[in-house]
Amino acid sequence: MITTEASRALAEWSLDGDERGCGVWPLDGRPSPSPRNAEPVPEVIALGSTGYWRLTTEGQLADSEDVLVDRVCRGAPLLGLALTGHGDEECVGVGRHWIGSEAAQLPGTTHSPAGIRAAVVFLNTCGTLRLGDAASPRGGLLVERLSRSGAAVIGAFRNTSVLPDLPARFADDLLDGRSLGAMTVRLNRRMNEAGREPPSFMLLGDPTHCWSWKARRPIAVEPLDDDAATVGLAERLGWLLDLDDTLRRWGLRETLRESRNRLSEAAALMFPLADAALRSALPASARATVLAEVGAVASAHEATMLRALAEEVQQGRWIQTRYAPVSRRRWRHDESCRRCGARVVHYMFEPWGNGSHVVWCKECDRCGTIGDGVGEPVAASSIQAAWNGTALRVSVPALQDGEVGLVVVHRASTITPRAWPREGGELAISTAELPMRGRVTIAGLRLGRCRLCLEYTNVFVQDSVPSEVR
Ligand SMILES: [Zn+2]
Repeated sequence: MITTEASRALAEWSLDGDERGCGVWPLDGRPSPSPRNAEPVPEVIALGSTGYWRLTTEGQLADSEDVLVDRVCRGAPLLGLALTGHGDEECVGVGRHWIGSEAAQLPGTTHSPAGIRAAVVFLNTCGTLRLGDAASPRGGLLVERLSRSGAAVIGAFRNTSVLPDLPARFADDLLDGRSLGAMTVRLNRRMNEAGREPPSFMLLGDPTHCWSWKARRPIAVEPLDDDAATVGLAERLGWLLDLDDTLRRWGLRETLRESRNRLSEAAALMFPLADAALRSALPASARATVLAEVGAVASAHEATMLRALAEEVQQGRWIQTRYAPVSRRRWRHDESCRRCGARVVHYMFEPWGNGSHVVWCKECDRCGTIGDGVGEPVAASSIQAAWNGTALRVSVPALQDGEVGLVVVHRASTITPRAWPREGGELAISTAELPMRGRVTIAGLRLGRCRLCLEYTNVFVQDSVPSEVR
């Protein structure tokens, strides 16, 4: 009996050439049986979690589960049958029905494979074509029983996840007259393309056999939905959860608690949707609603995190006093300061233990701290400030796509944080608003995809108007 290792080698080999097929001859060295239905009815039936339908030369027809199961199990002479659902070496479950071993005494109705008269059966489930390595005793394997009754069988020699479009592709290829070996290769390619699996499918039967009906309408195979927006939102949530863990390590747990709970709930809803197979089970309108709601929760949490950090700065705490005590500090000399030319020291704060981001911090010998944060560091602070005698003028560059930002004054909790304008621009803070004079530090906080950055700039403020602007 062929081992899983040999099946895998054959499946991988067959992926590499268009002329190659993937299949093994049936059990026990019997001569290759001509499929029982040498002239089967040109009809393919699909049963199971990817839908209940039949494809004929007239096109795709929908029927109920019971009608189709009855048709299959009462022995209609079909060309093809695709079964999708939970299964193993002995049986496959489709809806309330099982097809396979009666001895297994499964809940629901069990149908004997002996009654199925399909020329080709596609078992779209786990491990049905594990032959030499099967845990079940010989004689009871579903594939063996189907093969013995004259069917060619395509199944998986390993555990596999279910792609929703596979039964339709199987049906189309079968009616198109592709050889069974080539069809098996195409199913393996499809799994590969979707980034889902190493090749898992194998044919038990004659790889060169084919049928063809030219007069038919093709099935509309739904393209696998590679929804960039869904995957992008799942990635954004993953980053926000990690960043939230980091900020909690810095001691901001209480401030973020409620918002974090909502974020975790949103993630539980969102992450399964990043899987195309699960996503396709949800109608487009419902998916759009989930995306909008989850996106709103993510934005709200970003705003909450920014406000929590801004408050720290406003209350006079450098954010470094939060992360330094929970990290080990390393440093190197970096480039010279783009603002003043003095030497810049680049620190890396590596967290003790896991579950928290590394923080960078850059300090110029002359300007002081230029910035700190998580993700890609800034080369030089992009915010600039000047005092004209009556007001601080703070100019900020445009934010990057998906970024949000706030501008605050260090040690000045009475000054409301200013929103960082998306297109960039100049913000004014009047001298009268400032609770202090002397060296004033302005902080610009920005949070985007995979990056949190606090940038600082200093300006000297005094009560008398400087002579050069008088
Ligand atoms: Zn400098």
